[in-house]
Formats: sequence, structure tokens, C-alpha cells
Amino acid sequence: MAKPTIAFFKFSSCAGCQLNVLNLEPVLLDIVGAVDIRYFVMAKRENFEGPYDIGFVEGAVTSPRELMELKKIREECKILVAQGACACHGGIPSVKNFSGMTQREMEEKVYTELWDLKSFPAHGIDYYVKVDAYLKGCPMDKDEFVMLVKSALKGLNPLFRYHSVCNECKLKENNCLVLTKGIPCMGTVTAAGCGAQCPSLGRACEGCRGPASDCNAASLARTFIDLGLSRDDVVRKFRKYAGNTPEFSKGAEAV
Ligand code: SF4
Ligand code: SF4
Ligand code: SF4
Repeated sequence: MAKPTIAFFKFSSCAGCQLNVLNLEPVLLDIVGAVDIRYFVMAKRENFEGPYDIGFVEGAVTSPRELMELKKIREECKILVAQGACACHGGIPSVKNFSGMTQREMEEKVYTELWDLKSFPAHGIDYYVKVDAYLKGCPMDKDEFVMLVKSALKGLNPLFRYHSVCNECKLKENNCLVLTKGIPCMGTVTAAGCGAQCPSLGRACEGCRGPASDCNAASLARTFIDLGLSRDDVVRKFRKYAGNTPEFSKGAEAV
């Protein structure tokens, strides 16, 4: 039986999610043996045109060129996966959407050669095309990536979690950072799947996986104010990774 063909693409991003694929040392060779990686510029010298069975897209879409490429990729891939916060929600690049500057002013701040530059606000890829699965987080979670590839190989739907990071935090029997130390943790409103990595290390969840289903971000924003955060700090928290989403927008606009 032919192996499923896989491709990895990158738009505006830090490449950390693709790097996380290469960091899968214990299972990387098994994956490479089970699939046919046809396109992965970061990892391979020889790359091939589509079609592909599964396409993983990292990065936010921020330019007409990227948008054109994304539409072509969508046509070429049976299953299209948003890989990481940038591709899922706009991620860190979407911070620019809330800067109050024009695109040109931002371009001038970053680049000296502007003659060929054309950018627009940063969005996740489902702003433009249909997406079949989301690997959330900054970077994406390696275990979820492996689970998704295994599910695809078996023809099963991958199991993603829609509850909040707090559920995973409780399962790990952590003391709640908000209740015990007054640390402004976003676990209550953030989608689970990372195993409550940050709270388990005594650090606040920063919401990198974007909103959990049915989350009440406005209520959490008001709690952060009660904890002593400034309005600007609360707004920054909700706009750091997923400010484009309606759920986290409510948090940013509640204070
Ligand atoms: S989600 Fe994070 S790690 Fe992945 S590409 Fe974007 S900034 Fe980099
Ligand atoms: S520390 Fe954060 S993730 Fe853990 S229970 Fe408290 S709010 Fe939820
Ligand atoms: S705890 Fe929050 S910030 Fe940390 S990895 Fe999980 S979702 Fe991301």
C-alpha cells in the first residue's frame, strides 16, 4: 500500500513548530518510515509538487503572496492542518493587528527596503480557507502531532480536547496559582492539550493554545484587574496569541 504523502509549509512565523517536528527524536524515524514526506524545505533538499494527502501549514498569513500560496496549498491537500498558534489564530504575528499603526508604518519600523513589500493584518489560515484540524499551541504540542499522524494513518478522527487547561492542571493535582498566589493564569479560558505545562512549572498559562470552548474571558479579565493588573496588561494577555478570536476579544474589550 502506498504511504500517505505529507507536506510542510511555512508562512509568517518563527519556524518553531516545524523545528518541533524535527525534535521528535524518539519517534521521528517511525514517522519517516510510515509516511512519504514530499515537501519540507526546512528538512529536505529535494522537494516535490503536490497533490499531497496531508498538508501542515505553519505561520500566519500576512501578505498577498502568502494568501495566493495558501489557496494553492488548500487545493493540493486532501487534509489541511493548521500547525501552531500562528496558523490557528494568527499567533504572535497578530499582535500587530492591534498596534494602532497603519501597515505602512509597521513595515517602515521593521524593514529598510520597502520597495517590494506588501503586507496586511495577520490571520490564521482558516480566515481564508477551510481547515480540517488544528494543532494548537506555541509551539504546537509534539504528542498531538504524533497522535494526529497516527490517526490519519488508521483513518480515524484525531481526539482533540475542548475543555480548559484547568482540567489538566487539576488532574496533575497542582495548587491553583490564581487562588494560592494571586498569579494571573489564563488556564480557565485556554484550550487544553498541553498537559498544563506552564502551571505545572509554577508559571501562569499565557493562553498560547487559544480559547477553550464556552470560555468566559470577560469574567477572567475582570478577575485580573482585581488581582492588580493594569488594563493594558490585561489587554496584552488576551491579544498575545489569539487576539483575533471572538472569545479572547471579549477578554480584551471587557476592561
Ligand atoms: S506557533 Fe509559536 S513556535 Fe509555532 S511558528 Fe508560531 S511563533 Fe513559532
Ligand atoms: S493554576 Fe491556572 S490552569 Fe491551574 S487551576 Fe489555576 S487557573 Fe487553572
Ligand atoms: S499552559 Fe498555557 S501557555 Fe503554557 S503551553 Fe499550555 S496553553 Fe500554552
